[in-house]
Amino acid sequence: MKPFHIDTIRADFPILSTQVHNKPLVYLDNGATTQKPKQVIQAITDYYSNMNSNVHRGVHHLSQISTDAFEVTRRKVQAFIHAAHDYEIIITKGTTESINMVSNCYGKAFVNEGDEIIITAMEHHSNIVPWQMLCEEKKAVLKVIPMLENGELDLDAYHELLSERTKLVTFNYVSNALGTINPVKEMIVEAHRYGAVVLVDAAQAIQHIAIDVQDLDVDFLVFSGHKMYGPTGVGVLYGREDLLNAMPPYQGGGDMIKEVTLEKTTYNELPFKFEAGTPNIEAGICLAHAIDYISEIGLDAIRAHEEELVEYATAELSKIEGMRFIGTAKAKSSVVSFLIDGTHPYDVGVLLDKMGIAVRTGHHCAQPIMDFYGIPGTIRASFALYNSKEDVDALVKGVTRAANMLR
Ligand code: PMP
Repeated sequence: MKPFHIDTIRADFPILSTQVHNKPLVYLDNGATTQKPKQVIQAITDYYSNMNSNVHRGVHHLSQISTDAFEVTRRKVQAFIHAAHDYEIIITKGTTESINMVSNCYGKAFVNEGDEIIITAMEHHSNIVPWQMLCEEKKAVLKVIPMLENGELDLDAYHELLSERTKLVTFNYVSNALGTINPVKEMIVEAHRYGAVVLVDAAQAIQHIAIDVQDLDVDFLVFSGHKMYGPTGVGVLYGREDLLNAMPPYQGGGDMIKEVTLEKTTYNELPFKFEAGTPNIEAGICLAHAIDYISEIGLDAIRAHEEELVEYATAELSKIEGMRFIGTAKAKSSVVSFLIDGTHPYDVGVLLDKMGIAVRTGHHCAQPIMDFYGIPGTIRASFALYNSKEDVDALVKGVTRAANMLR
């Protein structure tokens, strides 16, 4: 484990020493996507310079080394989330595709008329819409765990929603809009008591919190590479072997087959059954380098650093007149969402951008949360391992200036 030196870490991320509108970049939009360390950027260049070829196909040298490297990623992901088997790791395009895979494939095989699916009121749209589509198609019933004012889930309501009719329960580990950390283990135990399977959306957790899928006893877990310092266009679906085996394939095409005749096709074994066609090879291979990067620093050190930033940012921002925090859950990760009386979040975001500060404003692809609070959106600062107290100071100064200009 490397010692946690913020300056050394920042030096790994070339973009952090660039300027925006002639101001040093302060990047606080990590919930949308994280920046990439030079180790990952170098791996991308190396791939195209020395390795480029298709995977799982050719007998030639290049194809073998790219296939080996792609499979190294699968095993790194397996180790990173403590999966029992490497073939339980399906390499996808990202969280959205992983969720759609489960809603389509698990849904096709196991969800019938009258069955119930439970989601929460604090999901990203990508963990709402696929379930609405499935329920419409199958005449199943979508139930929603409501939220409390502080941005936590109403767990009493959850217990009441569960029944023998519940087929699948899904929720995010960490809310992208509020930063709430949900009590996933407890929620999984409850769902399993009724025989329901559980999908956890770990898109905002995988880069902040150490995850052990066997300890959690989770059935499906999904996340994206680009939010964990890796490339875009790659993500993961972890699924329990027996469930994956029982599910039909997602797409038909090359790689997912064992044998094709013009009359009939037999499907490949896991994980290839769910990986039709040429994957994003470069991103797949380079995800391993992002995992190495995180592992060398260690998620415990990363989490401690980010908790300190959230605490500091909350304390400093609360000194601004008219500050209203949205989401004040006891357990929070790396996100501070807020509004300032008398200003529109969008206007604040535009002014911050002019100062070189990147935040996200709006509904953060979680419109039901904004409806719950009766607000148009929030200003969201989301932190990563390379953010510093100086970044927070710049944010506080920038927000104070923006508020003074707008009021
Ligand atoms: N779920 C959550 C909680 C997210 O934050 C995001 C990305 N903002 C997604 C799902 C979707 O991820 P992607 O766009 O990488 O598929």
